Amino acid sequence: MNKIPPILKQSAQFIKGVGPRKIKLLNKLDIYTIEDLLYHFPRRYEDRSQFKLIRELEVGTYETIKGKVLASGLRRTRTRMTIFQLVVSDESGVVYGTWFNQPYLKDFFKNGDEVVLYGKVERYGKLQMNSPEYELLNPQDEDESTIHTGRIVPIYALTFGLGQRYLRKLIKSTLDSYLGQIDEFLPKEISRVNELISLKEALREVHFPEKFKGIDEAKRRLIFEEFFFLELALARIKQDLKENSAGIAFACRGQLLQRFKQLLPFTLTASQLKVISEIEKDMSSNKPMNRLLQGDVGSGKTVVSIWAQVICVQNGYQSALMAPTEILSEQHYRTVLKFLKPLGVKVARISSSVKKEEKKKLLSLIRNKKIDVVIGTHALIQDEVKFAKLGLAIVDEQHKFGVQQRVKLQKKGVMPDVLVMSATPIPRTLAITVFGDLDSSTIRELPPGRTPVETYWISEKKRDDLYEFLRKKIREGNQAYVVYPVIEKSKIRDLKAATRMYEHFKQSVFSDFSVGLLHGRMKDGEKSRQMELFKNRKLDLLVATTVIEVGIDIPNASVILIEHAERFGLSQLHQLRGRVGRGKAQAYCILLSNALSEDAHKRLKAMITTNDGFKIAEYDLLIRGPGEFFGSRQHGLTELKIGNILTDSEMLTAARKCAFEYLSKNPHFSGPEAQLLKEKLMEKFPNGKEGILSR
Ligand code: ADP
Ligand code: MG
Repeated sequence: MNKIPPILKQSAQFIKGVGPRKIKLLNKLDIYTIEDLLYHFPRRYEDRSQFKLIRELEVGTYETIKGKVLASGLRRTRTRMTIFQLVVSDESGVVYGTWFNQPYLKDFFKNGDEVVLYGKVERYGKLQMNSPEYELLNPQDEDESTIHTGRIVPIYALTFGLGQRYLRKLIKSTLDSYLGQIDEFLPKEISRVNELISLKEALREVHFPEKFKGIDEAKRRLIFEEFFFLELALARIKQDLKENSAGIAFACRGQLLQRFKQLLPFTLTASQLKVISEIEKDMSSNKPMNRLLQGDVGSGKTVVSIWAQVICVQNGYQSALMAPTEILSEQHYRTVLKFLKPLGVKVARISSSVKKEEKKKLLSLIRNKKIDVVIGTHALIQDEVKFAKLGLAIVDEQHKFGVQQRVKLQKKGVMPDVLVMSATPIPRTLAITVFGDLDSSTIRELPPGRTPVETYWISEKKRDDLYEFLRKKIREGNQAYVVYPVIEKSKIRDLKAATRMYEHFKQSVFSDFSVGLLHGRMKDGEKSRQMELFKNRKLDLLVATTVIEVGIDIPNASVILIEHAERFGLSQLHQLRGRVGRGKAQAYCILLSNALSEDAHKRLKAMITTNDGFKIAEYDLLIRGPGEFFGSRQHGLTELKIGNILTDSEMLTAARKCAFEYLSKNPHFSGPEAQLLKEKLMEKFPNGKEGILSR
């Protein structure tokens, strides 16, 4: 079917002034359609209704001035940098604009030009702005007074070759021509309850506001819209699973579970029991479970997940556990084996080091249901892996995987239950966006008898004392990790590398002890050999990189020394710290770090201030922002154009509540208003479930 797209969905090239060259540049800004132009929101605003006089500029603040170019000049420094300077004056004084290594600017400005400069004001004898943003005014231009000055002016994100004035004018003319085509699609009741202005008004005001107050109103509406659709999409996934699919109703009481309980070497905490009851409720229902299991490092998530596996196996189904790394998968394998082998449950692991023949055999066993529990990395979701009767899919460290991978594992069975485990506590605002389609359970306490890890932050000067301390601890029978940010010697001066320090320790500092090495570039076989040695106390000291970051559980290791701690993210540091404090001995986490940026200082400070993973996660989110929190693999958060889950968290919560309520009241989108909303939702998430999951 070759339907003509609605006008707003047509290419921005239809607009006057956008030719083949410009559309390519616009595409770089993710602008394809006319509507995209309207949704390309300003990055900030300048009040050009009244410019500040140069004489009144405040040093240290960002200011906007308007003036005439008096002179300009380009010079080269001895280090072969270029410095371009512009002298700009208004009736009250003179300010210098300075740009480094942008020599082409000398052809951009002419004496007598009227310019606007925006930047931080500094004083080096004279008033100066360093690399200010600039814009040439053109008083002959009839748009000058209505678009580019004399008002609150929008400043947009640009790309090389696309000027501020061009884009501003383009958006203005797009608004003038197409705003009339914009229809409201939020249900009236929702707009009313949340006191939102109309979309038309919001788009006009967000680009060309009359007053600063108008911007806030406009943003509120647009942010709500953005969150609302995201949450509505998540709500639909959840609803879809709950209503349209028959899951497996597992019987939770049974022999196998009974024996498992008897063999448990410890008493479960109240928090673990509560979470287990939530999981059992899901598992026994005939709707598929989709649950996120959270808890701080060491809170005992693994045993909870094994409980669920036992229920699954007891009902004649297979379960699969997917972990992000070989090391972790191997460790899970050992743990599961330890608990389940005595019960006669058949456990197997698919690993990269398995030989071809053996793997073929293994796959056939899985396919023929000769194996009950399968553990592995991404290897599990390859097409060749086929289960006879998959009833439970567990994904550990979900945020290391894409959401699609979760779904892929899930699809190996017919509506199996799904349990997602996250070793990193996730702040609520993130949880309801990234995991918004899941129910969630949280383990809130650590097993009893743990003494909190003592964390110290020390400087290079104390290195010798530190070595002494390590020796003492080792002599007392403890084991220690020493973690480095890099494997080989790095270009960055003084950055100690794991391999070099390993040699150093072995040959001199700790020559009377046994030292091991573990890093990501080693073969998997060698990695597990080292882990094995460490686990069996054949090594006193394990020099490692962040390969040991998650999950590693070796109770006798009670000291972790992290070198160049400033180079690690906060959640990463907390994860590393979680490697110790798992046994009876008092545990120590020592952060060795000298040179410090402000952010690094905040991170280390947070580490010595609290042991609480949820607090750490909040700090981390604050310091790094949502886009970075999960590392490179993203979940649609970077796609948010205007909403910010940190600063707009109230809006997010409100939008989520509205979306979920709306759907539960009107699950089939009946009525014209709801149909319009549904259309819009499909437009934003065209592939439904897959669409949102793949974002
Ligand atoms: P997490 O995966 O949440 O980081 P683990 O499941 O690895 O934590 O548990 C950490 C350690 O605590 C393991 O050695 C585990 O056997 C032990 N453990 C778990 N639950 C309890 C409990 N209720 N009492 C005592 N020890 C426990
Ligand atoms: Mg774990």
